[in-house]
Amino acid sequence: MTHVFLVGAGPGDPELLTLKAARLLRAASVVLYDSLADPRIIAMAGPAARLIDVGKRCGKHSASQAQICRLLVEEARGGHNVVRLKGGDPMVFGRASEEMDALRANGITFEVVPGITAATAAAAALNLSLTRRGVARSLHFLTGHGAEGGLPAHDFVSLTKSGGTLVVYMGGETLPGIAAHFIEAGMPPDMPAILIENASLTSQRSVPGTIATLPRLHAALAASGPVLILIGEAMRDANEIAAVRSRITHEVEQNMVSAA
Ligand code: SAH
Repeated sequence: MTHVFLVGAGPGDPELLTLKAARLLRAASVVLYDSLADPRIIAMAGPAARLIDVGKRCGKHSASQAQICRLLVEEARGGHNVVRLKGGDPMVFGRASEEMDALRANGITFEVVPGITAATAAAAALNLSLTRRGVARSLHFLTGHGAEGGLPAHDFVSLTKSGGTLVVYMGGETLPGIAAHFIEAGMPPDMPAILIENASLTSQRSVPGTIATLPRLHAALAASGPVLILIGEAMRDANEIAAVRSRITHEVEQNMVSAA
């Protein structure tokens, strides 16, 4: 019986992988992975496993989605024990529907194994609750990159009015447009907004700002890893934390100067 596993690899830190994902990786004969999967996680596959990189990063497509679907079906039909490893959670901006449709259309059964999505990994990394009681009543996951490229036509007015925490995936490139649309939709320019790169990895970097300042801060960061943007009142503490940190840094520096 052919059976494919669509497995969430989490945000990067291998310790954030589920036990089930680790077990399936060890047992896989073929692993199809994309560029967000951490090398240490891919290395968890058994020594006999065939590792296929189908990675795509914004603009640099190494395999089209149609090719990935075909490959998935071919490998499963070949009787292999296939794991399709996807960054974060497969069901959150993971193109899982296309792959599930292709498998269904070819009579191949499958199972989805959830993973920790970038939003919750970022919240943990920042020590900030996404749904702070009395502050954020809802949580919205948005894409900053539409199917046709560029910024998708979100209902920026409703999102602004919701008062919830807005988490933007794939929004690095379109951040100036996202910020402009929210401000135009009535969001106060000083609304806290924070950007985090490589959440959960040791290379993680975060920059707190406001919806007005974040595009400039992002440009200055020159991020090379995946970037997540979090907007909303629940993110306000990030600014306070950063302010305290920079004050401490400043004081430490001052002390060092006066001690020298
Ligand atoms: N399925 C994934 C999302 C894939 S879309 C998930 O559930 O997390 C790719 C986008 O996810 C990136 O552009 C970035 O916005 C976000 N992302 C994924 N991993 C991330 C990480 N470790 N740190 C910050 N953002 C991340």
